[in-house]
Amino acid sequence: MDKPSGRRATMALGSLDEALKAAVKVQAADPNRFVLQQYICSHCGSKQTMRSKNEFFTEGICSECEETTDIEKAGCNFALLIVDGKAGLAMDDEFLKPDAKS
Ligand SMILES: [Zn+2]
Repeated sequence: MDKPSGRRATMALGSLDEALKAAVKVQAADPNRFVLQQYICSHCGSKQTMRSKNEFFTEGICSECEETTDIEKAGCNFALLIVDGKAGLAMDDEFLKPDAKS
């Protein structure tokens, strides 16, 4: 897979399908967890985080340059949001490792 030519953001990207499957698995493990889809804008290279919890999209409009990225082509990842009082946003690049299990 070609890496987007991101100038500012770095993030491991998987295919939309891979990311979605991994996100479902991670989220299902605990009801206090939510996932937020993330991708890297293929126009300006900034990392974008979707605002809808547990929803994945095939394209996204960049909040910085307002261009549309085809996420199915560009790939994506997700952030894990834990809302148990100690809210945190943890990037999850683990699923891209071939031996990652959760
Ligand atoms: Zn952009």
